[in-house]
Amino acid sequence: MTTTHNHKHKEMALYIEGLTVSFDGFKAVNDLSLYVEEQEIRVIIGPNGAGKTTVLDLICGRTKATSGSIKFKGKELTRLKEHEIVHAGVGRKFQNPSIYEDLTVFENLEISYPRGRNVWGALIFRRDDEVRKKVHEIAEMIFLGDKLDSPADLLSHGQKQWLEIGMLLIQDPELLMLDEPVAGMSVSERKQTAALLQRITKDRSVLVIEHDMQFVEDIADRVTVLHQGKVLSEGSMERVKSDPKVVEVYLGH
Ligand code: ADP
Ligand code: MG
Repeated sequence: MTTTHNHKHKEMALYIEGLTVSFDGFKAVNDLSLYVEEQEIRVIIGPNGAGKTTVLDLICGRTKATSGSIKFKGKELTRLKEHEIVHAGVGRKFQNPSIYEDLTVFENLEISYPRGRNVWGALIFRRDDEVRKKVHEIAEMIFLGDKLDSPADLLSHGQKQWLEIGMLLIQDPELLMLDEPVAGMSVSERKQTAALLQRITKDRSVLVIEHDMQFVEDIADRVTVLHQGKVLSEGSMERVKSDPKVVEVYLGH
């Protein structure tokens, strides 16, 4: 899959072909092919019911494909269980933040730090310098460096979204998937989130579903427009925006 001869293209991180899922005969995702490069920010847009969230559900193993293939770094994900897919380096953020409201920002990040198991199978849990350092580093990155001791329930909606992104980042996924991350955020929080996503693609790919066109324009390397479970259009924001098919089914409304 990767070639050492071709220097013109970045390597593909995610390789989806012929992906279909059928719910009682209704194909929510219908023969979808999608390729995401390493370090790319890809945004999926499209009308409600287009199948966007279902695509993420399929990648993270929450929903089983009826047919097709999802290869990530050469591994076939459709055969793996959800936790194995996490272990393979795929992190996924859902629409509503799932953070521990009664724990502090520090504790939320600390609890998400990947821990190994020792030879007896017990969880190794240490609040040592390494964990502390990583928690501080991630907290700075998600604009919560001065909120480490705040209980998470005192954070604004936007800050909670960032905390959840941080809880994923601390696990160092190679593919980060986000479903409508800026919904409910203020304009300045959206700008900060765009900057955050741009910074984290140094080491990973990001797959984002979003409706906010300004935000999409700010972050997307490429945009995939989904409609009725299929790719309607794909390319730069510029190109997709001026595609009459996209204007008709999505942007025109
Ligand atoms: P989007 O995120 O683009 O708005 P979804 O992926 O949530 O769309 O849904 C696509 C279609 O698939 C919708 O018609 C939805 O009702 C249907 N769907 C999604 N998940 C299921 C499911 N588990 N069972 C049955 N239908 C589903
Ligand atoms: Mg959705």
